[in-house]
Amino acid sequence: MKSRLHPSKRKLTTWLETGGPVDVDDHVAQCERCAGTLEALAIPEPSVSDALAAFLAPPDDLVSRMNDRISDSLRNRADAKMFAELVGISLPTARLLLTERPLDE
Ligand SMILES: [Zn+2]
Repeated sequence: MKSRLHPSKRKLTTWLETGGPVDVDDHVAQCERCAGTLEALAIPEPSVSDALAAFLAPPDDLVSRMNDRISDSLRNRADAKMFAELVGISLPTARLLLTERPLDE
């Protein structure tokens, strides 16, 4: 006797991973809807690709760390003047921006 009910997504996932239980085997062999579900399940879930993308993405603080390095570099090379001209601000303002640091650093 065969089940008329479609197996749950979870049951289908288990079936994909383990090949069991056998009643799912019988069902998917003759159910187009569940065959489609299985096909969708075989494609990596969005959560998996999201996790992968997060894993491969640059760290969240990369931009601020790079900005820190750039301003360090600008300050160290005394390029405040160039920076001021580039951005169109006065030299004192440029120096202030480039040397702005937390007091405890
Ligand atoms: Zn089905």
